[in-house]
Amino acid sequence: MAISVKLIDHTKDPIRALYMAYRVCYSALTPQQVLDRIDDERISQEKMLEFVEARLLTGHMSPLEQVHFEFGISGVSRAFSHQFVRHRIGISFEQQSQRYVTYKGGAFPYTVPKTVERAGLGDDMTALFAQAGALYEKMVEAGVPAEDARFLLPNATNTNFKITVNFASLLHISDLRLCTRAQWEFRKVVSLMRAEVVKVAPELGRQLQPKCGERRLGYCDEDYEAWEECPIGRKRPHKSELFNLYDAYRKGELDDLDADDMAIIAADNDDAPAFIR
Ligand SMILES: Cc1cc2nc3c(=O)[nH]c(=O)nc-3n(C[C@H](O)[C@H](O)[C@H](O)COP(=O)(O)OP(=O)(O)OC[C@H]3O[C@@H](n4cnc5c(N)ncnc54)[C@H](O)[C@@H]3O)c2cc1C
Repeated sequence: MAISVKLIDHTKDPIRALYMAYRVCYSALTPQQVLDRIDDERISQEKMLEFVEARLLTGHMSPLEQVHFEFGISGVSRAFSHQFVRHRIGISFEQQSQRYVTYKGGAFPYTVPKTVERAGLGDDMTALFAQAGALYEKMVEAGVPAEDARFLLPNATNTNFKITVNFASLLHISDLRLCTRAQWEFRKVVSLMRAEVVKVAPELGRQLQPKCGERRLGYCDEDYEAWEECPIGRKRPHKSELFNLYDAYRKGELDDLDADDMAIIAADNDDAPAFIR
């Protein structure tokens, strides 16, 4: 079963909601007065966006909790769902039950990872699941309740979610789960959630990045070996490079700007490298 993510609902006008939340903090006006200025267009959509984008560069994060997104997520494995529900703050889950839903004829939906297929073991996995399905069905027919028959179902079994998540939490989840260290299925789901947000609120969707994104930390805080192996690590400094640089600066160990550097600075227009002409 293919993974599917659908944005079901969201805060009506996320930029307006964020503008209101931030503006109330920084204005002598009452919320009603701010609202009046929005309604009579003294405060334009562009102005709200500009103000919100400037606030997003600060550490003032709590207003982001006032914007929410609701998603329907289907075709994900229980291996994924175990990880997903570890997120505790700013997110609410409803998940398909294996107690109240009985798989008819023992046919439970599941995911075979591409790595298993590539290893030539996809058919073996499918055959084992068919056996599990047959035994599941036998148990159900023998009167075993679904909540107990499910004990033999694999992590690969598919499940569905309806979730509500606020934007602050979605940023945090993206930090962790768009990182190449996260599991592929989680990266896939969060990428699809991001794409859905981009459709309705591109300015906010763009903020959803792995933690090394230029709108997030801007550097990698994973261990050095992981950074070396990361396919996008070459685009980001590792945290140790930043600290080493800072350390060298404090100890006066940075390379001196030498005569060649000064010559570049002093060069006449025609001799200067293109970017300083
Ligand atoms: C690459 C990767 C590998 C992982 N491997 C494992 C593993 O091997 N085993 C395992 O068990 N888990 C593992 N996890 C899950 C991980 O430990 C977290 O449970 C999960 O990422 C949820 O993160 P969170 O706690 O930051 O998120 P949330 O629960 O959404 O919390 C958000 C933030 O709120 C704050 N917060 C929440 N609760 C508390 C609290 N009680 N006290 C203080 N502050 C709080 C924290 O700042 C937290 O970051 C892994 C996660 C990743 C991304």
